[in-house]
Amino acid sequence: NVAVALFTRDLRVHDNPVLHAAAGSASRVIPLFVLDDSILRSQFTSPNRAEFLTRSLRDLDRGLRQLGAPLVVRRGDPLAVLRRLAAEQPIDEVHLAADVSGYAQRRQETLVDGLPVRVHVHEGSVNAVPPGAVTPTGGNDHFAVFGPYLRRWLAVERRRPLAAPKRLEASTVAPGSLPEREEICSGEVAPELAVGGERAGRELLDRWVGELVDDYPEGHDDLAGDRTSRLSPHLHFGTLSPVEVVHRAGSRTRGAQEFVRQVAWRDFHHQVLAARPRTAGEDYRPRGDAWREEPEELRRWQEGRTGYPIVDAGMRQLLREGWMHNRARMITASFLVKTLHHDWRSGARHFLRHLVDGDVANNQMNWQWTAGTGTDTRPNRVLNPLRQAQRYDPGGDYVRRYLPELRSVPGAAVHEPWKLAVDHRRSLNYPDPMVDLDEGRSRFLEARLGQR
Ligand code: FAD
Repeated sequence: NVAVALFTRDLRVHDNPVLHAAAGSASRVIPLFVLDDSILRSQFTSPNRAEFLTRSLRDLDRGLRQLGAPLVVRRGDPLAVLRRLAAEQPIDEVHLAADVSGYAQRRQETLVDGLPVRVHVHEGSVNAVPPGAVTPTGGNDHFAVFGPYLRRWLAVERRRPLAAPKRLEASTVAPGSLPEREEICSGEVAPELAVGGERAGRELLDRWVGELVDDYPEGHDDLAGDRTSRLSPHLHFGTLSPVEVVHRAGSRTRGAQEFVRQVAWRDFHHQVLAARPRTAGEDYRPRGDAWREEPEELRRWQEGRTGYPIVDAGMRQLLREGWMHNRARMITASFLVKTLHHDWRSGARHFLRHLVDGDVANNQMNWQWTAGTGTDTRPNRVLNPLRQAQRYDPGGDYVRRYLPELRSVPGAAVHEPWKLAVDHRRSLNYPDPMVDLDEGRSRFLEARLGQR
C-alpha cells in the first residue's frame, strides 16, 4: 500500500511524526510538498521566507533521497493536487501535521472531508506541546495568561523524539521540479539572511545545546552579544522539531530551563491562535484605541530613521538579516504602538514582510502583546527606548553594528547623538529624534486611559 506524507511546516526527516507514521504503515511512501496557490497569493509570502523555504526544500529532498525516496513537488490547491496524484498512482492513506492558523485548520478539514482515503492528522509536530494537550479547567478553551499556562505545559508528559526512518520505498510518481525562489516571490533578499534547511538547523542546535544554552540567563538580553539561539526560522519552517529542541535542551541547568520557557511562549501563542484564529487580524482584547495614521512617521520607523539609535538599529537589523533580536523587537514595536500610537497591524505587516521567522501566531500575538490588545497583563506599560538602550546595549556596540553613520561615536554616547558637540553632530548624517519620548508617552496614556 501507498501513503502520502504531506509536508507543511515540518520540513525535516528527523523527529517527523508524519513521515514516521507514513513509513511505518505503508510499503511505499510519497513524500509530498505542495506549493500552495492560496499561500503564494497571500500576504504571507516574502522574499526572505521564500529563500529560506527553497533552501529547506532542497535540503529536505537531499535527506529524503538518502533514505530512498525523492521529494515530490506539485503546484496548486492541496486537495486538487492529491486527487490528481491519486489518479496517477493509487493512494491508500494521507498523513499531515495538525497546525493552528485559520487557514491550516480549514485545509485540514478540506482534506479530511474531500479525499476518499483515510487522512491521519498528527499532533505534536508543529508545537512542543500541542494546543489540545493543555486546556484550562473551568470551561475556557485556551489560556489567556502565560504563567498558569506554563505550569500546565511543564507538567505535560512530552513524547520522545523519533528517529528518521531507516529506509523509504519510493513510489513511481515523477518527483517534479523543486521551486526556485523567484517562482514563489520576487524581490530582494536580506543580504545576511540565515541559511535554510534541516542540516543547517541541526548544526545550529548541536552548537546551541552543546556549548551555548547555559549562558542563556545572562546572555539572552545582551543585544550586542547576540547570545540567543537563532533557532526561530528553523522552528517556523519545521526544519527543526520543537519536541526535539526541548528534549535536547533538557532541564538540568538554569540556562536550559529559561530557554525551554521561551519555547513555551511559542506554544502559548499558538494555542491562543488555535482557539481564536480571527485574532490574526482583530484585537484579542479591544481597548478602543484611536490609532494615529501618519504615513511619513511609519516610513521613518520602517527605514530605521526615527532619530532614536536603539530603535533604528533594530529596524536596520531586520532589513539586513531578515531577523531581529527579541529585545529589539520589543523596543521597536513598543515605539511604534505606544510612543507613536500607530495601529499594531501596520507594524505587524512590516515585520511579516521581512522576518524569516515571520509567523501568524508569534508575530501577531507578540504585536498584540506589545500593543496591550493581547495577553499582556500590563497592557499600558510604555518602554522607554533610552533606558532600554542603556540597560541592554550599555557599550553601544549593537547600535554601531547596524548604524554605520554612528560608528564614530564611542561608548554609550551613541544612544544620545543629540547631546554631541554641534560639529560632530552635524557630520553624522543622522536625523533628530522624530518625537519627544515624554510627549509620546503622555499622548498614548491620555488616548487610552483619558489621563495624563
Ligand atoms: P531564543 O531567545 O533563543 O528563544 C528560543 C525560541 O523560543 C525561539 O526560537 C522562539 O521559537 C521561542 N520564543 C522566544 N521568545 C518568544 C516569544 N516572545 N514569543 C513566541 N516565541 C518565542 N517569533 C517568531 O518566531 N516569529 C515571529 O514572527 C515573531 N514576531 C515577533 C514580533 C514581536 C513584536 C515580538 C516582540 C516578538 C516576536 N517574536 C517572533 C518572538 C521572538 O522575538 C523571537 O522568537 C526570537 O527573537 C527568535 O530568536 P531566537 O530563536 O534566537 O530566540
